[in-house]
Amino acid sequence: MPLRFFNTYSRQLEDFEPRDATGRKIDIYTCGPTVYSRAHIGNFRAYIFEDLLQRHLELRGYKVRRVMNITDVDDKTIRGAREAGIPLTESTAQFKEAFFQDIETLRIKRADEFPAATDQRYIEKMIEMIATLISRGLAYQAEDKSVYFRINKFPNYGKLAHFDLTQLQSTGRVKHDEYDKEHIGDFALWKAWDEEDGDVGWESPWGRGRPGWHIECSAMATALLGDQIDIHCGGIDNIFPHHEAEIAQTEGVTGKKFVRYWLHCAHLLVDGQKMSKSLGNFYTLPNLLEKGYTGREIRYALMRVHYRAPLNFTWDGMNEARESLARIDDWLVRLRETAAGKIDKREIDMQPDQDFEEALDDDLNISAALGFLFEKIRETNRALDRNELDAASANAWLNWWERVNSVLVVEEAIAPLPPGIAKLAEARAQARLAKDWRKSDELRDELSARGWEARDTKDGQKVTRRAGG
Ligand SMILES: [Zn+2]
Repeated sequence: MPLRFFNTYSRQLEDFEPRDATGRKIDIYTCGPTVYSRAHIGNFRAYIFEDLLQRHLELRGYKVRRVMNITDVDDKTIRGAREAGIPLTESTAQFKEAFFQDIETLRIKRADEFPAATDQRYIEKMIEMIATLISRGLAYQAEDKSVYFRINKFPNYGKLAHFDLTQLQSTGRVKHDEYDKEHIGDFALWKAWDEEDGDVGWESPWGRGRPGWHIECSAMATALLGDQIDIHCGGIDNIFPHHEAEIAQTEGVTGKKFVRYWLHCAHLLVDGQKMSKSLGNFYTLPNLLEKGYTGREIRYALMRVHYRAPLNFTWDGMNEARESLARIDDWLVRLRETAAGKIDKREIDMQPDQDFEEALDDDLNISAALGFLFEKIRETNRALDRNELDAASANAWLNWWERVNSVLVVEEAIAPLPPGIAKLAEARAQARLAKDWRKSDELRDELSARGWEARDTKDGQKVTRRAGG
C-alpha cells in the first residue's frame, strides 16, 4: 500500500508523492511555539504527531528536512515581557530554553532549523514580501499606518478552511475592532508601532512597526525551504486564519502552489474538557514530571491516539501508558534472554511482518499500529511461555522492534540503578558467587518489594524495574 495522508486542503486521503525528482527528499514545515509561556501538553501533542510523521517517513527511507519556527515577537510575547518588566529578548529566551528542554524530555527529534522571527535576516525577508504584495495590489497601508492583506484580491482565500468570504462576515470570527480595514477579514502584515510595543520595533518603508504573526511563517518557510514545500503541519486551530494567511501571502508573492500536503492535528482535551487555566486542568510537562511520570510515558500517552481524533488526556490514560510500556519492557527482557540462547527451544515458524509499518503508511494510523504491536507481544509471549521460540526467532523479533522503536522511541534508556537498589543488586551478586542461595533469594525478595526485578542470565544478574511496578 502506498503512503497516504489526509490533506486538509482537499479534505481527502491522498497518495503521498514528494516534489523531489528522486522521490526521496521531503521538506516539512511545522509551526513552532510562541515563546511567551511554557508550552502545554496540548502543544506537545501536535509536536509529537509531527515527530511521529518525520520518523515514519525516515523509516520508509525518505530524507526529511524539517523547519520549525519560533515565534518570538507577537502580541502575546510583547505583553508577557511588559508584564514581567523585562526586555522582550530576555523574556522569550527563558521560554525558548524551556521548550528545548521539554522536547528533549519527550524524545522529539530536533528540527534541522529553528528560525526565530526576530532574526534580522527574516525581518528583511518579511519586509521584502510585504513590499511585493503591495506592488501587486494584494496589500495596502491603512490610515492606522498598519499594512493589511487584501483578501478580496486573492480568489483562493478560504480554500484551506473551506469557507467563503461572505461566511466570514457573518460568523463574527474576526474581531470588529479595526475600522481602517477594507474588509473585516483583511489581516495585518505589518503592525504600526504603538506605545504598548515599548522598544520593540523595526524600521520599514511603512514606518516603525513589527511583523504580523502570519507573515513570519511565510518568510521563514520560503527563506529556508524554497517557494514550495511538501508537507506543512500544525494544530487544527492553526488552519484559520494562520495557515490560510500563509497560503495567501506566499502564493501572492511566488505565484506558485505553496504546500502540497496540509496535515493538522486535532485538539487535546483533559477529562473531556477543553484545557484552561481557570478549570485547573492546564498542564505543562514539568507538572506531569512532578507527579512521577517519565518523559517516555508522557510521550506514549500523547502519541497513542490517531492525530486526527481528539485525544482525551486522563490520569487513567497516563497509568495505561505506564502499563503498556512495562509490558514492552518485560517482553524485551524475555526476548533478549532467549536471543542470548540461554535455553534450547523448539523452533516454530513465527516471524515478524509488516503490519505495524503498513498501519502507519495509512495516514499514520498509530492506534492500529500499536494494536498490532501488542498482538505480536501477546503471541510471542505465548510462544515463550510454551518454550517454543528459539534464539533466531527472538533475534528476528528484536530486529523488528528496532524498527518499531525508531518511530515510537519509547524503550527505557539503560539508566544507572538508584544507589539503594545498586547496593542490593551488588550484595545479591556476591551472595550468588558465594553460592549462598538463601541470601540470594532474600535479596531478590527485597528488590521485588521495592519494585525491582532480578533475573539471572548467562551474562550474569540483570536488575530491571518490575513490570507493572
Ligand atoms: Zn506558522
